[in-house]
Amino acid sequence: MKSFEAVKYYFNRAADQLELTENMRTLLLTPKREVQVQIAVEMDNGELQTLIGYRVQHDNARGPMKGGLRFHHEVDLDEVRSLASLMTWKTAVVNIPYGGAKGGVAVDVSQLSQRELERITRKFVDEIHDVIGPDTDIPAPDMGTNAEVMAWIMNQHNKYYGFNPGVVTGKPVEHYGIPGREEATGRGVGILALKTLSRLGRRPQDTRVAIQGFGNVGSHAAEFLHQADCPVVAISDLSGGYYCDDGVDVPKAMRYAKEHQRSLARFGEADRISNDELLELDVELLIPAALGGVITARNAAQIRAPLIIEAANAPIRPDADDLLAERGVVIVPDVLANAGGVTVSYFEWAQNRQYYQWNLDRVRQELDRVLSAAFEEVWDLSRQRNISLRTAAFMLGIGRVGRATVLGGIT
Ligand code: NAD
Repeated sequence: MKSFEAVKYYFNRAADQLELTENMRTLLLTPKREVQVQIAVEMDNGELQTLIGYRVQHDNARGPMKGGLRFHHEVDLDEVRSLASLMTWKTAVVNIPYGGAKGGVAVDVSQLSQRELERITRKFVDEIHDVIGPDTDIPAPDMGTNAEVMAWIMNQHNKYYGFNPGVVTGKPVEHYGIPGREEATGRGVGILALKTLSRLGRRPQDTRVAIQGFGNVGSHAAEFLHQADCPVVAISDLSGGYYCDDGVDVPKAMRYAKEHQRSLARFGEADRISNDELLELDVELLIPAALGGVITARNAAQIRAPLIIEAANAPIRPDADDLLAERGVVIVPDVLANAGGVTVSYFEWAQNRQYYQWNLDRVRQELDRVLSAAFEEVWDLSRQRNISLRTAAFMLGIGRVGRATVLGGIT
């Protein structure tokens, strides 16, 4: 099943509960605009390279469209389209005044110099500057992009339209960014994990955690849960998995990754395991925080964790989702679980519009408030209707977008 088909599958399950007509389903699923552009750049060696960039603007019924920009060699239109629609439901689930979008450039960033990365970014903005903006579509970081890339986007866009830092979020804190944006997604995963554990009657200290991916999201989720007394027994990244029965020393692992180009390779404080073994560990909580599609019908039967928090986007394929549900595994879906990032992006955009800067305490407090409210709504709906947390989250999101669409007037 391709990425967009998977989102459609979850959408339709929720749309059945909402008794949406076929016409309304088609309207809500169809992206407003899909842009594909050529990015011709000169590389450091003088050679010309032609890349393809995408921006999919899925829906703006609830506000300007919002979504990350991914630089990864596997980026294609279908993936960007699916991630754009997930953003529409995600911003609606946490009830922030945005629609959904996503962008991407098919390029292997590990092969680029900083100057090449900057040229590609600026060229991409040259191609899409007229469809993005603080009131229309606001990009943010995703895999392969970071705060520095966001600063280049702001600078390039401002050359056309004048100073306006709200055109992009996830900027460096000292350059119109917001404190706490970097940790926000991982912290949000941690907040939601504790809330779910409390509803399930489990104590943090009895909850062993395995986390796949130790980048921005995985490392901050690990840090938060470690501080909350959950033994984080396994972590991993591209270099493989690291297991420690008594709990990995997360602060030490974070320092190690920071000092070694964000990699855990040769981290000596734990036993080595593979990424597949990590997913199948006998733990109470599993957090996939790397790639999409890592839990499939092929390995679903081997997953032993009774609780999974989807920190990555779409880490569980629909066929695996059904198999896990049959076994009573509780899954906190991506549209809720990783919404902390877009929530703090919203705070950044709001502060940019006020020419003001919030402090970290305020950001954390407001993040907790927004995610807690969304969690309660999703949890209660799932219990009232006896449906999964995923279907409940999609119902909330789709319901809000549907109402805004009708209120705004369709034709
Ligand atoms: P990142 O690039 O900072 O980190 C990704 C991590 O995954 C790295 O540690 C990398 O080594 C590891 N990884 C890559 N391939 C792997 C593999 N095959 N097996 C195990 N580990 C592997 O990315 P990130 O920002 O942490 O994003 C991770 C996921 O979270 C993505 O799916 C992204 O779309 C999603 N997400 C991120 C944010 C955000 O604010 N950064 C917000 C919402 C969703």
